[in-house]
Amino acid sequence: MSSEANPFESLREQVDDAAAVVDADSGVIERLKKPERVLETNLTFERDDGSLETVRAYRSQFNGDRGPYKGGIRYHPGVTRDEVKALSGWMAYKCAVVDVPYGGGKGGIAIDPADYSESELERLTRAFATELRPLIGEDRDIPAPDVNTGQREMNWIKDTYETLENTTAPGVITGKALDSGGSEGRVEATGRSVALSAREAFDWLDRDLAGATVAVQGYGNAGSIAAALLDDLGASVVAVSDSSGGVHDPDGLDPRDVKSHKAETGSVSGYAGTDALTNDELLTLDVDCLVPAALENAVDADLAADVGADLIVEAANGPLTPDADDVLAERDVHVVPDILANAGGVTVSYFEWVQNRQRFSWTEERVNEELERVITDAFDTLVDTYESNEVPNLRTAAYVVGTGRIVDAYDQAGNWP
Ligand code: GLU
Repeated sequence: MSSEANPFESLREQVDDAAAVVDADSGVIERLKKPERVLETNLTFERDDGSLETVRAYRSQFNGDRGPYKGGIRYHPGVTRDEVKALSGWMAYKCAVVDVPYGGGKGGIAIDPADYSESELERLTRAFATELRPLIGEDRDIPAPDVNTGQREMNWIKDTYETLENTTAPGVITGKALDSGGSEGRVEATGRSVALSAREAFDWLDRDLAGATVAVQGYGNAGSIAAALLDDLGASVVAVSDSSGGVHDPDGLDPRDVKSHKAETGSVSGYAGTDALTNDELLTLDVDCLVPAALENAVDADLAADVGADLIVEAANGPLTPDADDVLAERDVHVVPDILANAGGVTVSYFEWVQNRQRFSWTEERVNEELERVITDAFDTLVDTYESNEVPNLRTAAYVVGTGRIVDAYDQAGNWP
């Protein structure tokens, strides 16, 4: 049962919860609860049959106190202005929690990309890049992939920007293909930080990840890679799902094989040797660890009351409503929040940008080592903050860390003009 909670209101509530602990003026907190600016634009592009279509697109620049705005671009029919505003805010706090020198941004186009051909998507993406050109730049605002976008779209945006600017600026966007200036390890990075976060959380809770059962809701880039890496760490992935439903095998699935099945058939459903289950059944399954890896609001208060896992590691952005958080805190279910657990994506985006600026490529080994250090350090800081403050859950602790760092940058710069 997914909730209708407005993600932007959820974000504001999360910041308010942290503000009760952070030593900052209410005026300073107020500016950390809304974006600095939002572009809302209508993009007109040509369909393959020669007709014209106009679609709505957004880019929200939430906060730039710690560096250039940073965050992905999603293509999804559910994209709205408030959703993009919330997602841009979550990026600002995420970058602060893992201490990468960026602010937060996010963009989106309200379409279902499955309705369009590749050449239509290219024209649409280049139209968006043309609108974005004055706002983005290597030191200004750096987009990246998000739901339903990937290397292909990033390569088009980079090429459009560089062509219009008559320059070379690979760091204007991250998540590019390797030959277009991408980084080793970027595709896997979000799932990798989810798996690392689960490992750290099990360790903190004095529990064994080896043999633990895991359910993963959503089998896109983040979910499928998190599942494979959790399996590598010895966990047993017993259920996975996508928008068409889920599959369950109490003896454990082979996550990479399920991914191949999805690539061949379009969904995880029907994977051999499994029972079908709905997304809600998966979210309430009696497992050791639940990984929501789809969209916002997957778990609301009602569903939270039935969650069977003792630990949730958020691969998606905003999969739990604030009311669900309250229920889970009361039930002593720990949640490793999105702004840490899925921060591997933006962390390796940062490494990609650093490599682009240096015109020097790192090995995959180096990328993964540096990512592991960033995530484990951030996890340690999170736990210290949780244990030394009166906060209800790890999410509020993460917002205390993130808000504190953004407020410090703002205070040091001062308000001007
Ligand atoms: N879209 C990803 C996220 O939500 C990655 C953003 C980035 O790499 O800038 O964190």
